[in-house]
Order: sequence, then structure tokens, then C-alpha cells
Amino acid sequence: MLRHEMNFQDTIKIARIKAFPIRASGTYSPKMALGTMPTRPALLVKIEDSSGCYGWGEIWANFPPRANTHKANIIEDVIETHLRGISFSEPHEVQEVLRKTLSLYFLHIGQSQVFEHILAGIDTALWDIALRHEGVSFAQFMGLQSTKARSYASSINAEDLEQLIPFHTELGQTYFKLKIGFAEHGNAKIVENAAKLIPAGSRIMVDSNQTWTLEQAKVALRDIEAYEPYFAEEALRSDSPHSDWEELVASTDIPLAAGENIYGIEDFLALTRAGIKVLQPDVAKWGGVSGALDLAKNMPEDVLIWPHFMGTAVGQVAALSVSAAIGKSSYCEVDVNENLLRSELCGDVINIEDGRVELPSVPGLVHPPSLNRLTDFTDWM
Ligand SMILES: [Mg+2]
Repeated sequence: MLRHEMNFQDTIKIARIKAFPIRASGTYSPKMALGTMPTRPALLVKIEDSSGCYGWGEIWANFPPRANTHKANIIEDVIETHLRGISFSEPHEVQEVLRKTLSLYFLHIGQSQVFEHILAGIDTALWDIALRHEGVSFAQFMGLQSTKARSYASSINAEDLEQLIPFHTELGQTYFKLKIGFAEHGNAKIVENAAKLIPAGSRIMVDSNQTWTLEQAKVALRDIEAYEPYFAEEALRSDSPHSDWEELVASTDIPLAAGENIYGIEDFLALTRAGIKVLQPDVAKWGGVSGALDLAKNMPEDVLIWPHFMGTAVGQVAALSVSAAIGKSSYCEVDVNENLLRSELCGDVINIEDGRVELPSVPGLVHPPSLNRLTDFTDWM
């Protein structure tokens, strides 16, 4: 895993940051653990350096409905003055400076994790700017043998199995993640139905989004064990005591996964000691690209890193890039549900072929959004 030691040559001085709250509406509304998403809010940031070079990043903002404008205001009101003027060569240095300066502020206002989301998006933008500044793509910088990232089909709702599993099979997907835990679906039934639809040699995963108690999780996982899910995601709350995770691990043959609601490398490592076998950092929620790559360097050999992602094409490409850097053991989440912010904001860039997505070949990390589309999706809420 990750033999390449990252090393940027240039020193970059940050000149400005601008937040872009955006929203797509009028398309399919996926049902999520926190409710339906009648529209898709998102938040992008653009950072420019003193030479006019730029980078784009994404800050997680799926919930609540105006999370994007909330975090955009924080960037403008609090972050910008601290970020402007910082010089760096490795993107992770900037997170460290901002944490030193501002973590107490965010602790005080009860928004430490919101701060982490913002730092994550800033880190991704800094990777984009650093690569563009040096004139290399992420794949070139990391010395990747393949410019394609592996992906898996995610967030398949019970009522869409018959349509979406064959469709994504055609795209070469071999891993299919189902949303379970909603009472009306029946957990075992949805897995049974999906198992009949997936192609030979492929696997199902399940995601119950932290909704089960320990006892409920034990029963639910026992009921689906016969279908040999590749992993069960967030079978417990992310803040469950490690003894609960250990007890669940001991009670099931299904490998457990978590990470989209875990903050900090120590907490990820503690989960692996409790027996979690698949970690799912989200580049828009914690650590950005630097955090995910750092995590990959520190993982025990028998633990997989499958990046979590649910947002626009900007963060999606960053998450796919992390997967590609980790190598063939890593598959990146790609939502199966319609989302114009993934399919149109940056053009038609998330094309899945043979289960893989081609990373950008030009200097930078991500595909910049089309300025016309960015204007179309601007959030006026
Ligand atoms: Mg999940």
C-alpha cells in the first residue's frame, strides 16, 4: 500500500478562498438515514495562490438542507482571514496550522466536526492547486501504474434493485451496496432479492447507517449471513463503545465497515483494534486527501480502505484518486442515484467502464466545475 512518498517541490502562498454553495433539484430524491433529500445541497471551495493558480475542493454538506450556506458563511466569516497568507509545500501542513489556530474556537461553539469538514475540503483544494502548480496529474505525481480507479455501486434502495443492479452490472460493477435498516424493507428480504440479481462472482454489501442497537445488529446480521455480504457498514453508531464493536465482531462472520463518521487517525486505528476490517474515510468530511492517504500508510495489512463518498463530481474524483493510490484492494463508493452535481457540474467525467473511472490526465487533482453549470446550480436559499 502506498509506497510513494509524496514530495512537492514548490512553495505556494495562499491568496484567497471562495466558497460556492450549490444545489441541484428536480431529480430523484434518495432516502437517507437522516431523511429524504428533496434537493441536493453541496459546497465547493476554490483556493487561489499568489500566482493566480487555483484549486477546487468539496466540503461535505448533504445535511441539514442548508449545511452548504452555513459552512460557506463560516469560511467567509472565520476561516478566510486565517488561511490567507499561509505558505505551504505539502497540503497537510495547512490543516495543521489551522487546527492550531482555530480548533479551540470550534470546540467552544460546539462545531468541531463542522471544522473538520471544512479542513477536509480545503485539503482537497490544496492538492488540486499543488498538482496544477507543478504541472502534474495525481496519477503522475503518485507514480500510479493505472490511471483508472475501481468503484462500487452504492446506495441501492429496495425498490430499485431490479432496475439498478442489471444497469450497473452492465457497467462492470461487481460490488453492490444496499441500504438496509429501514423498517418497511425487511433486512433479509432485500438482501435475498439482490442476491438473485447480481452477476456470478460479485458481492453484496449492506449499510444500515448507524440505526441499530447492538442487539438489533446481532439479529439483523445473523439473518443475512447466509448471503455472505462482503461487509456490513455502520452496523452500530460510530460513537459506540469499542466493547460493543468487539462483541458484534465476535457474533458474526460478516466483516464490519465504518469510517464516514470517524474523525482522526487514532479513532480509525482504535476501530481496527476492535476488529473492524474495512475503513471508509470521506475526503469531504475528515482529513481530505492527505488524511485518507495518511490513514492508508498506517493501516494494518489485513484492513481495507474503501473511501466513502456521496456528493459532487469534484469530491468524487478526489475520493476515486485515493482509491487508485491505495491500489487494487481499494474500491471507491459511487452513488447509483441520479445526481446532476455528479453527472453535469464538471461535465461527463464520472464514466464507469469495466467498474472503473478514468482519473484526470491533465495537471491537478479534480476536474474543475464548468462555470456555466456552477452558475446554474448556485444556491440562492
Ligand atoms: Mg454509509
